[in-house]
Amino acid sequence: MALIVQKYGGTSVANTERIKNVAARVARYRERGDRLVVVVSAMSGVTDNLIRLAKEIMPLPSERELDVLLATGEQTTIALTAMALHALGVPAVSLTGAQAGIVTDRVHTKAKIMNITPRQVHALLDSGHVVIVAGFQGQTQEGQITTLGRGGSDLTAIALAAALKADLCQIFTDVDGIYTADPRVVPTARKLDEVAYDELLELAGAGAKVMQLRSVEFAKKFGVVFEVRSSMNDNPGTIVKEETKSMEGVVVRGVSLDKNQAKITLIGVPDRPGVSARIFQALADAAINVDMIVQNVSHGTAHPATDLSFTVDKPDLLKARKVIEGLKAELGFSQLLADETIAKLSIVGVGMRSHSGVAAKMFTTLAREGINIEMISTSEIKITVVVNSARGEQAARAVHDAFIT
Ligand code: ASP
Ligand code: MG
Repeated sequence: MALIVQKYGGTSVANTERIKNVAARVARYRERGDRLVVVVSAMSGVTDNLIRLAKEIMPLPSERELDVLLATGEQTTIALTAMALHALGVPAVSLTGAQAGIVTDRVHTKAKIMNITPRQVHALLDSGHVVIVAGFQGQTQEGQITTLGRGGSDLTAIALAAALKADLCQIFTDVDGIYTADPRVVPTARKLDEVAYDELLELAGAGAKVMQLRSVEFAKKFGVVFEVRSSMNDNPGTIVKEETKSMEGVVVRGVSLDKNQAKITLIGVPDRPGVSARIFQALADAAINVDMIVQNVSHGTAHPATDLSFTVDKPDLLKARKVIEGLKAELGFSQLLADETIAKLSIVGVGMRSHSGVAAKMFTTLAREGINIEMISTSEIKITVVVNSARGEQAARAVHDAFIT
C-alpha cells in the first residue's frame, strides 16, 4: 500500500469535466489500494483573473489582501475535486494549506515554507479518506494566509511528499513529461525517461518552463524523487532524481532557448578596482537580475579601459539603462549599447563533466549554420551562447540535432 502525493496543475482542472477526469484517475489509484494526497492548483486563468481584478481596484494592492484573494482560487478547486470524488462514491475531504499544517514565513505573495505539521492529513488518511490539499498557500505562525509565489502548487506537492515521506510524488500537467527541447521549436525533441535535479534546474533557469524552480531546488535538497506526467493520458512521464553514474553516458540531456533576455554593452569602462562592483551593486539594489557577464581584456596603458557586456531580463532593460546612465558621470565609460534582439541558447547535461570537446562541437555546429556567437558562458554542466534572436530557433534545432539522436 503506497502513499502517493499527486499534483494537478491549472489546465488539468480547467473545468468541471476535467475535474471529473482527475477524480476518476484518483479513484483508480485508490482501487489499487494506494493512499492518496492530491494537491490542486486554481483552475487555469483564475489566478491571473484575480490579480487583474485587484489591479482594477488599485495598481499596488496590499500584499496581505492579495494573498487572501489569491488563495480563493485553490480553495475553489479543492472543494470541487472533493465533490467529484464523492460523486464516484470515494470518501474525500478538502483542506486549505493552513488546515494541512503548512506554515510559512511572513513574506506575502512569495512566502517560504518553514515547516509542515500534517496532523489532519495523517488522521484523514488513517480513516480511509483521499485528502485534497490546496496548492500555493499556507499560513504564518500568527495565522495569516500566505501564498508561495506563482506556480507554487508544485512546491506544495514536493514539500508535502517530503513531510509525509511519500512513496511517490507525481506532478500531473498538460505535457507528457520533460523534453530534450521545446517541441514547438524543435520538431525532433523527445520526452526524457529521467533527468537529474541539476539538469532540470539548469534547463529551467535557462528558460525552459516546466516546473517552478524553487520546487525543484526543494526536491533536490530533501531528495524527493518525482515524476512529471500528463493528466490527459496514461503515458509514463519523466522521473526527476539525484544524478546517477549511468546518467553521465549522455553528454547533452536537453537544449533550451530563452528569448526573454536583453544585452547591455558598456564601451570604454575604466579598468580599475571597484568599477564592476559599483555597476553590479547598483543593478542589484534596483532588484535587476543579471545573468551572463563578459569582460574584455583592457586596452590602453595610461588610462586602461575595457568593454563589458551583460544580460538582463527583457522587461528590466529600461530600468537597467536608467541605473547605468546614472553612473556615467561617476564612472566615465564612453558608450552604452542595448540590444533586445538576442536569444540565449543553452545545452545542459551532467555528462559534460566527463566528456571533452563539447563546446567545440556546439560552436562548430553554429558555424556551419552561419550563426554568429555574441557571448559565451559555461558552467560544469551547461554551455550558453548568445546569438541574434532571428537565428535562435534555427540554432536550437541545429544544436539539438547535433547532440541528441
Ligand atoms: N494558481 C497559482 C498560479 O497560477 C499556483 C499554481 O498554479 O501553481 O501561479
Ligand atoms: Mg500553474
